Amino acid sequence: MQNIKNTINTNTQPNQRPQTKFTQTFRPKTVQNSDALRITSLGGFGDVTQNMFVYEYAPRGDFKKSQIIIVDCGVGFPEEDEFGVDLQIPDTKYLEDKKNRILGIFITHGHEDHIGALRFILPVLGKNIPIYAPRLATAFIQARLQEHEIRAKIQIYQDNMPMKAGPFLVDPIRVTHSIPDTFHFAISTPIGLIYHGSDFKFDLFPLDGKYSDLRHIARVGNNSNVLCLLSDCLGADHPGYSPSERTIAQNFENEIKTAKGRVFVTAISSNIVRWGQAIEYGKRAGRKIVTVGFSVDRAISVAQELGYIKLNKSDIVPINRIKNFPENQLIFLAAGFAGQSNSALSKMVMGKHRIKIKSSDKIIFSAPDYIPGTSSAILKIVDHLSKMGAEVVYGEGENMHVSGHGYQKEYALLATLLNSRYLLPIGGNYRHVRAYQGMALDIGYSADQFISPDSDASVTFYANGKYDTNHHISSRKILIDGFGVGDVGTTVLRDRRLLAEDGMLSVVLLVDTKSARMIKEPLVLSKGFVFMKENTPLINQLKQEVKKKFSQVAGDPINLDYVREQIQGHLEQIVYKKTGRQPMILPLLVEV
Ligand SMILES: [Zn+2]
Repeated sequence: MQNIKNTINTNTQPNQRPQTKFTQTFRPKTVQNSDALRITSLGGFGDVTQNMFVYEYAPRGDFKKSQIIIVDCGVGFPEEDEFGVDLQIPDTKYLEDKKNRILGIFITHGHEDHIGALRFILPVLGKNIPIYAPRLATAFIQARLQEHEIRAKIQIYQDNMPMKAGPFLVDPIRVTHSIPDTFHFAISTPIGLIYHGSDFKFDLFPLDGKYSDLRHIARVGNNSNVLCLLSDCLGADHPGYSPSERTIAQNFENEIKTAKGRVFVTAISSNIVRWGQAIEYGKRAGRKIVTVGFSVDRAISVAQELGYIKLNKSDIVPINRIKNFPENQLIFLAAGFAGQSNSALSKMVMGKHRIKIKSSDKIIFSAPDYIPGTSSAILKIVDHLSKMGAEVVYGEGENMHVSGHGYQKEYALLATLLNSRYLLPIGGNYRHVRAYQGMALDIGYSADQFISPDSDASVTFYANGKYDTNHHISSRKILIDGFGVGDVGTTVLRDRRLLAEDGMLSVVLLVDTKSARMIKEPLVLSKGFVFMKENTPLINQLKQEVKKKFSQVAGDPINLDYVREQIQGHLEQIVYKKTGRQPMILPLLVEV
């Protein structure tokens, strides 16, 4: 941001940008001044992942009769202190009483943080809502929904194929990103045109030869008064122009070529351009391809089927046949770039997989290390590998990975071509939003054109071209655990936190319910709380306390729930007094 003055704008006078005049003429005659268009981010503004945007057109400002389209439906990655929680999804409570007014879900591209929540959210909102998605994303969505036995209506869209949904006209525009088939949307509404510029970069030399349709963007900017530009901003704190995918090619190939033993490459599973490169370079180095991990298997077979990756059967070696090949003739494509503990890579490193990493292996991380919630897990894996003596190539500058997101100049170019009345950065944290704002000021936008709503606020535009951010939604955190669909409540999370911090203390009592008496000594067990053998005095004292409390509270007839609660409360106090710690205390009363 700070460098951009020197690089872009030599005339530092602000407000040089020709201002778009909003006249009645660009709106249909039927539009009333009270008509409104509301944009809500169910994943929260100021968030990178779990993208899900609600566009709501309300004639006469009556949101009880609004018509709705949704853009994207993605998962998020929980913070690292949310124990054992795998995913986070947008809270759709806001749509609960509006379900039958949802006209369609429009998907920009096939990344998990844009499509991954469909399997959880479709059953809630209605499986009949039409979904519009590009070709590759459609294949990913279908594969996922089939696993969960969800049937959905998906229509594949292409370049220059505007889609009508009630009062909305959604015009897809091809852009480049780290996955093929990524689109922006020029969304015409009765209130004005909104440009939904989700994840993108302007890679002028894309490896797959599919170029950003800059002429189409220019046309939108020329022909329409763009009311608001929602723009990706994740790379806004980098000055200049983001490097092309092509720039890593040589380094990447060199690392594969110079490896002496086995090579493992890990990347985002859906990054099929990167897998395509790894396959190509591996083959050139005389290596056969081994895929490890479900998500990579699936992505590569989908990409192969659709022709995005060229791979013959003879190039592939199934895991059970790898011992027939010398180690320097194999390249493994492995899931788990983010260090997820249940991923193939993590298991191979920890010795919990049939393939085990050894010191003669080379492991290449060709993936971002900045996704919120992942960085320390990645470093942990890298540390493990380093300790084992394996060669690790990871995240140094732009050698092995380039971002799929643009830098300042690309955002500046988009904002310049569209010359929109308002700017609303999305897909970044607040520091990126701030950096984007700095960039926008430098290219002649003024501060009052810049919208930065609270995370849970909606932006409501009115027919007179004004807007407000007064409307707020309730935004709970919805966490998804393992492969289960049920959400993890705060109680479960608190329990996990307790277990992680202070361990668990369990007390087993055998109780004769007839006589309301305890049979035998109580049994005290500890996991992660104290080392039993070294703490015999404490354990013995706890046993005495359990007996004492039991005799006080066990009436005749005995109420086991009551006794359990009393013992639990009593032990919590004693343990805290003696040790200053608060392990989870679990009394178990067994009737005999
Ligand atoms: Zn993306």
